[in-house]
Amino acid sequence: MSKIKTEITKYLSGLRFAAKLLPERLCYLCQQSTDTLVCQHCEQDCLFFNLPMCDYNLLNWTVIRNALVTAKHTRVCAAGYYQWPLDYLVREFKYGQPQLADTLADWFCRYGLNARRPMPQCLLPVPTSVWRYTRRQYHQTALLSACLSKRLGIETQTHWARRSASVKYGFMHQQGQGRKARLTNLNKAYTLTAEPLPAHVAIIDDVMTTGATVATLSNMLHKRNPAMQIEVWTMAVTPLNADGTLLLPGRQLAPRAR
Ligand SMILES: [Zn+2]
Repeated sequence: MSKIKTEITKYLSGLRFAAKLLPERLCYLCQQSTDTLVCQHCEQDCLFFNLPMCDYNLLNWTVIRNALVTAKHTRVCAAGYYQWPLDYLVREFKYGQPQLADTLADWFCRYGLNARRPMPQCLLPVPTSVWRYTRRQYHQTALLSACLSKRLGIETQTHWARRSASVKYGFMHQQGQGRKARLTNLNKAYTLTAEPLPAHVAIIDDVMTTGATVATLSNMLHKRNPAMQIEVWTMAVTPLNADGTLLLPGRQLAPRAR
């Protein structure tokens, strides 16, 4: 018995020695030692939504609903506001750091979802164009969707819609265009494929500003099947005021004394 104990002790001390040789894992944001990609201190810096207050649906929150384009989806879920450090992480994820998908999906599941309500039957990532895919080498919303699928056990369907390469509708391209022209452009940018879809779906996006992109897609889905229940799941929301300025809740709720 004592021989076994000695062997186990030797084995454990060997493991501890090996662990010391391994490089220390540092937080992606603050460089402190951590077991996760982003440490718990940085996670606590995020302005996550208090979603139970609006029944896990941001459309029930007037200030957000008024800032988004109205469409046929009936629920919008997001982890938090597009502010530090969530804005930085989403931008990094979008432009070259695909490994952050797992952290964002994890935060979305913990802060943006109510696991007790009926879940969608499949997840539909917002399509990307071929040139953007070629440049980035990954499809960011499909990657997020895959991470969510793994956690929630819900299938991701990536071929449900296509995006045309010829229509430019990025923020820079839309500047100077009227709202109607922008929405018409978006309608030309996407086409639904013939892939059959279930009755309850969630469109997956990384960040939602006016919500025009997901509005176009959810209206297309509704046109094909008016009975379809459509949700929008996004990691962060950055709604604009009517004058185009950012709706920053911190500044609104705590104005500086003059
Ligand atoms: Zn940190």
